[in-house]
Amino acid sequence: MLNQVIPLPAFLDNYIWCLRNATDALVVDPGDAEPVFAYLKQERLRLRAILVTHHHADHVGGVEALLAEYNVPVFGPASETIPGRTRALREGDTVVVDALDVTFRILDVPGHTAGHIAYFAPGILFCGDTLFSAGCGRLFEGTPAQMMASLAKFAALPGPTRVYCTHEYTAANIRFARTVDPDNLDLADRERDVRAARDAGTPSLPSTITTELDTNPFLRVHRPEIAAAAARHANRLLATPVDAFTVLREWKNRF
Ligand code: ZN
Ligand code: FE
Repeated sequence: MLNQVIPLPAFLDNYIWCLRNATDALVVDPGDAEPVFAYLKQERLRLRAILVTHHHADHVGGVEALLAEYNVPVFGPASETIPGRTRALREGDTVVVDALDVTFRILDVPGHTAGHIAYFAPGILFCGDTLFSAGCGRLFEGTPAQMMASLAKFAALPGPTRVYCTHEYTAANIRFARTVDPDNLDLADRERDVRAARDAGTPSLPSTITTELDTNPFLRVHRPEIAAAAARHANRLLATPVDAFTVLREWKNRF
């Protein structure tokens, strides 16, 4: 059996992503242990690793309960406090999980939190709360310029890379994106697809890097129509893409 990535819904709108084959699994950002225990038991899978992107409770809240049951490595950002962390990661580090025959490369992606990291393997991006489909994370501990640089790292990944965000925020993000970028036909298509998925009770995720480049206003602030929409909203000239990004992020916060 080839590796598959399965969403385990948690809380209101979180996904704990589970990378699995026929016998083994790892989980990303287990904010709650219960959905993980239930899935592993149902599928008779052995947990092999826990990957954490940042320190927020809805991403780490289940780590200690999982460790009480499974003796597995916990990978997490070097500059944040992560319960049970056994390996501290920074940009350029690699994570090898032999049982799943997978190697991740670590990206430092500050902005949502100061030490936020992402995990990239060919075809797979676990981006935590940095990139959402048609949106991006709130800037709790970072600057707009930091978040822009983090998103630029994702934008440079191969287009077909599947993007596993940790929240089902897509529909609300698209409502905002349509306001900013009303003439974008790719965005209109994406809105239709997401509505169909949600009506069918399935996740809007994963997205892909290509889809995000085509539809996500926070990845498109260099484009004249996005910059112009931000300037109209702010009612002033915006000299740089960072200025436009800053206006867009604050506009979304109040949307
Ligand atoms: Zn968060
Ligand atoms: Fe979160």
